[in-house]
Amino acid sequence: MTVRAPAKVNLHLSVGPLRADGFHDLTTVFHAISLCDEVTVTRAPGLTIRVQGESAAEVPTDHSNLAARAVLALADRTGVDPDVEVLVHKGIPVAGGCAGGSADAAATLVACDALWGLGLGRDELAEIGAELGSDVPFSLHGGTALGTGRGERLTPVLGAGQYAWVLALADVGLSTPDVYRELDRQRESGPVAVASDPSEVLAALRLGTPEALGRALSNDLQPAAMAMKPALRKVLDSGDELGALGGVVSGSGPTVAFLARDDGHATALAAALSGHGVCRTVRVADGPVPGARVIRTL
Ligand code: C5P
Repeated sequence: MTVRAPAKVNLHLSVGPLRADGFHDLTTVFHAISLCDEVTVTRAPGLTIRVQGESAAEVPTDHSNLAARAVLALADRTGVDPDVEVLVHKGIPVAGGCAGGSADAAATLVACDALWGLGLGRDELAEIGAELGSDVPFSLHGGTALGTGRGERLTPVLGAGQYAWVLALADVGLSTPDVYRELDRQRESGPVAVASDPSEVLAALRLGTPEALGRALSNDLQPAAMAMKPALRKVLDSGDELGALGGVVSGSGPTVAFLARDDGHATALAAALSGHGVCRTVRVADGPVPGARVIRTL
C-alpha cells in the first residue's frame, strides 16, 4: 500500500503565548504543496522502518520515527498486530519547517488503515494523528485550511487560485521546539512584531491572485528562525531581488517559500536563486494539493 502525503507552508502563522502544556495557541493558514513523501507499508514479521531519498541519513529508523509511532498508535487503538515494514521515500526536506515528519505519520495512518481493512474515517485518523504531532491532521486534510489550537483544529479555506512556489532548502535543519523557545525568549526581552490576523491572506486567497497573496505572507516564527540562522536574511533578500512576489520562512524554518507568478516564473526564479548560492538547493512546487492518499496498491 503506497500513500503520498504533501509538504506544507504556512501562508500566515500567528503564535499566541506559551500554554501550560508546552505548546502555543496558533492561528495559521496551512497550504499543502506538491513536494511529497511516499510511504509504502507491507506486511512483515515485525515493525521495521526504512528511509530513502532527500537527507534520509538524518531520519531515525527506530520507533521514535513518526511513521513507527503512527503504526503503533493505530495498532493500539484497533487491536491489530503492528507487523509491517514501512518504507519512507523522502521528497520533503528533513527538519525544514515543511511538516515532513507529519506527512510520514499521516501517510502511514492512511496506508495501515487501508492495508488492515479498518475503514476508519478521516476524522478518527485525524484524532489519532493529532496525538502524534500538531501538523498531522493537516497532512491528512491537504488543500488550504485555517488551523487553530495547536494547529490541529482545521477549517477548510475555499479559494480559486493555484499557486507556483519555489522552495529554498537549507543545508542544516532547525529544531521546532528550539525556534518556539527563541520566540518566547525574544518576547520576554522586549516587544516583538506579531502577525495580526489572517484576514489579509484569506482575502488574497478569495481573490486568487498571486500578487495579493505574495504581499500578505507572514510568520511570527520568522524572526526567531532568523536569529538562529542569520543566513536566512540573504535567502529572503535574494528572492526579493530576483522578483519573487513574496517570501516567507516556512513554519519554524529554515526552508524559505517564495511565491511566483506562474509555473514558468517559478522555474526561472528557481534557476536564478540557485545561481545566487544562498541555499543548499531549490525545488519548485504547486499548491494547493490534496492530503495523504493511496496512490498504489500491490
Ligand atoms: O506538535 P509537534 O510535535 O509538531 O510540536 C513540536 C514542538 O513544537 C512542541 O514540542 C512545541 O515545543 C512546539 N510547538 C508549540 N506550539 C504549537 C506546535 C508546536 O510550541 N502549536
